[in-house]
Amino acid sequence: MKAEPTWTVNDAEEYYGLKRWGGGHFQVDAEGYMCVRPLRNERTIRIHDIIKEAKSKGLSLPLTIRIQDMLRTRVTELNEHFRNAIQDEGYAGKYRGVFPIKVNQLREVIEEIQDAGKTYNYGLECGSKPELMIALAMHKDPKALVICNGYKDDDFIRLALYGRKLGKEIFLVVEQLSEVPRIIAISKKLDVRPLIGLRIKLSTAGEGKWASSSGEGAKFGLTSPEIVDAARRLKRAGMSDCLQLIHFHIGSQVPNIQTIKKATVEATRFYCELTRMGFPMRLIDVGGGLGVDYDGSRSNYESSMNYTMREYARDVVYNIKNVCTDEEIAVPDIVTESGRAIVAPHSILVTEVCDRISKNSVDFKPGKKKKRNVILRDLEAILENAHNSTPLERYHDALQKKEEVNNLFSLGYLNLSERAEADALYWQICQQLAEIGKAANYTPEELENLPKMMAEQYVCNFSVFQSLIDHWACDQLFPVAPLHRMNERPDVDATLVDITCDSEGKIDEFTDVEDVRSSIRLHGLKDKQPYYLGVFLVGAYQDIMGDLHNLFGRVNEVHVFLEDDEEDDFYIEDSIQGFTVNQVLGFTQYDGHLLTRQMKKQVDRATKADRIKPREGTRMLDDYAKLLTGGTYLST
Ligand SMILES: *Cc1c(COP(=O)(O)O)cnc(C)c1O
Repeated sequence: MKAEPTWTVNDAEEYYGLKRWGGGHFQVDAEGYMCVRPLRNERTIRIHDIIKEAKSKGLSLPLTIRIQDMLRTRVTELNEHFRNAIQDEGYAGKYRGVFPIKVNQLREVIEEIQDAGKTYNYGLECGSKPELMIALAMHKDPKALVICNGYKDDDFIRLALYGRKLGKEIFLVVEQLSEVPRIIAISKKLDVRPLIGLRIKLSTAGEGKWASSSGEGAKFGLTSPEIVDAARRLKRAGMSDCLQLIHFHIGSQVPNIQTIKKATVEATRFYCELTRMGFPMRLIDVGGGLGVDYDGSRSNYESSMNYTMREYARDVVYNIKNVCTDEEIAVPDIVTESGRAIVAPHSILVTEVCDRISKNSVDFKPGKKKKRNVILRDLEAILENAHNSTPLERYHDALQKKEEVNNLFSLGYLNLSERAEADALYWQICQQLAEIGKAANYTPEELENLPKMMAEQYVCNFSVFQSLIDHWACDQLFPVAPLHRMNERPDVDATLVDITCDSEGKIDEFTDVEDVRSSIRLHGLKDKQPYYLGVFLVGAYQDIMGDLHNLFGRVNEVHVFLEDDEEDDFYIEDSIQGFTVNQVLGFTQYDGHLLTRQMKKQVDRATKADRIKPREGTRMLDDYAKLLTGGTYLST
């Protein structure tokens, strides 16, 4: 066999696709540690150092790391791309972006975004009463917009109009026709002129996983007859001057730029028509949808996008200008509600591999008995390829023998050690065939699944349902990579499973440039040495949509900033404790004190019956009480 060429950190960067999905924010240093570059310059932070620092503060894994400076980078980039596009096109309007709170509501995230967006008058978008309450209080820049989307009751409308009274440029975007008469009535009662937008149900359908946000079957927005009706109602109420904005949102993670162009053109036509009908239109809000290239393939595959942020900005500006110029209508200011593209990159989920599940976990020594069952000899012959068969023939033979083994065992003709030996031989055959398959150019269809079947399962201390809900719910792919040992060649094909008691709690699809990988190459586990994995680009939607399956709950979290004066250094400004056992029990109507009391009763009874010593009983209760205040994940 040829000696394998040496493995370098460049190979690691290549294999894990850092250059493709990392947007210049991730690299591996010479010692094989994964580093983050918040500003894409020479300043780097080893993620391993952040873990160490977090642990020294008592925050164990799993851990969410937020790189706050990366939020700043993304906000700046989006605004600069639009500014440049506007300048290059000689566009007469302005760019007035807003951040949709639902994509990441965390106060520290919103604060950082607002701070970064100050010079751009970057605003906020909300879609529910609680989000509106955040927006109203957090919004301070009078030149920044607040956009209210979503279904609205009277309280929502009234609250938004309070914002209007406070002098905010706050738009009520009509989602449903029934909101129009209520907005009219409530604003009359409060004696305030509302700013009104209409959400259009475009005929341009979205594309990708969230395509059903738009198109004629969508649950959002007004059809063209409803737009005309809403406009007329406003006119009749003497509120023509209030209608100034149109809005659309074609769904999140739009993979194809053509969809965005088409939707922009269609919406601009609505804009021009409403202008002609005499409404003082001045804003087009193109919603969200700006993608994140999770697999780095730059394709219109659903986990990717075939355009850049720069191209997006240019196409939106260009298409609006084009339609307006043709129709001789003054161009509007442009609003976007990009959420995913702003926040996805800043957050990394760190988990530790705590165990492995392997088909060949036991080094099985065959029994020395003289009279071995003939089926064991048959399996051995297949393993040694005594009959010179093709891989496919051997696989078929092994499958047949395996079935016979199962039957013989069930009928009592094989004992447990014989069954164990047979199974071990069978898995060895499969392992061998999987290796042959991987090395070959062509693999028969039946053998294609073998590598996946034989891949080890690395058990990771986290919950897919809490931390990567979209992976489970909509097969969304997130890049995964080790955080250290990248200067060592990875030689274990693995899939990941979480610690929930749920077979769906797993990751067995991984990003790749072409296609999707069914396993990922990782490093062998070493005794007493932790092995850390990072899941990347998880800053959008995952935190808040995660759930309490198995009562694991929120993970620990640290917020990392680059140190201002020192090079290559960082500090953790905030840390947030994940849920304690007591907290998650509270969500399901238990009370820690009551549970402790119920335990005490049982301990007392056992002590009285002399089944345990009093001291033992006290220790049990102390432990119980202590674990109530502890974390829910495995302590490693
Ligand atoms: C969810 C949502 C957004 C954010 O979409 P992204 O794809 O994350 O940018 C923007 N606008 C509306 C109306 C939304 O519902």
